[in-house]
Amino acid sequence: MSGSGKTTLVLESLIPGLEKYISGGKLPEHIKRVSAEGIKHVKLIDASPIGINVRSTVATYANVHDELRKVFAKTADAKEYGYKAGDFSYNTGILRCPTCDGTGSISLDVQFLPDVDIPCPDCRGGRYSKKTESIKYISKEKKSYSLPEIMGMDINHALEACRDLNVVKQRLQVLKDLGLGYLTLGEATPSLSGGEAQRLKLASEMGHRQEDTVFVFDEPTIGLHPLDVQSLLGVFQKLIDNGATVIVIEHDLDVISNADYIIDMGPGGGKEGGEIVAAGIPEKIASCKKSETGKYLKKYFI
Ligand SMILES: [Zn+2]
Repeated sequence: MSGSGKTTLVLESLIPGLEKYISGGKLPEHIKRVSAEGIKHVKLIDASPIGINVRSTVATYANVHDELRKVFAKTADAKEYGYKAGDFSYNTGILRCPTCDGTGSISLDVQFLPDVDIPCPDCRGGRYSKKTESIKYISKEKKSYSLPEIMGMDINHALEACRDLNVVKQRLQVLKDLGLGYLTLGEATPSLSGGEAQRLKLASEMGHRQEDTVFVFDEPTIGLHPLDVQSLLGVFQKLIDNGATVIVIEHDLDVISNADYIIDMGPGGGKEGGEIVAAGIPEKIASCKKSETGKYLKKYFI
């Protein structure tokens, strides 16, 4: 229930308590004891936007772009013209689109009105100069792609195009596993939805052991499409498979019913809240007469 004390318990007590436990500092006054053997990291993954800079894209954020630049610098075309990896940066490289300076959009100055951003007429949002389109990477299957072409692909298609490039392929696969296969590599991260931003933030966390890490998600399903909720549950499972501890503050029953352990706060909100009504595995909560959450959980277990 809203105002039952979930935020106080997790965001204002557990997280600061764990942080002090890890750093060895003095616990916040209201926390008596923290016992979390082996935990070295606590990470709050929220749905706030990633950056405000249009120069941050899915490809740069997920460390795919740096790898692609190295790949393109090694192509026969790049060698012929003398281009190095740095030249393929759309931020500072000489191959960036001169019209939009590599941002992919330009500001129209309309008199008496606020500026309007439109896609760059020269690179059509691709961020690169015409010249860049003639520098091709050739796959083992003899298919050729330019960097702006790959940046214009969604992750599913880019995976196909980059199947011979081990590092790029691995990083793209992580994004696909996070349910983000439909995102375009060149998409600016500030334009992503909260749910997309939330999952993209986990990209660097996947694929290695996480026994020493607690991840906290604060109402992660707000605004998510039911299919996205399923992707998110898959992501939680991957983190858990990697050994991580996942703590989720949530109202959504589909998420709650998937938990291994539930702490039901209540019994009401505000003055009526702040108590642990029931705690245990979902089946136990579902059969607990005192628990309001339990009443709604019954349909999942009985
Ligand atoms: Zn441009």
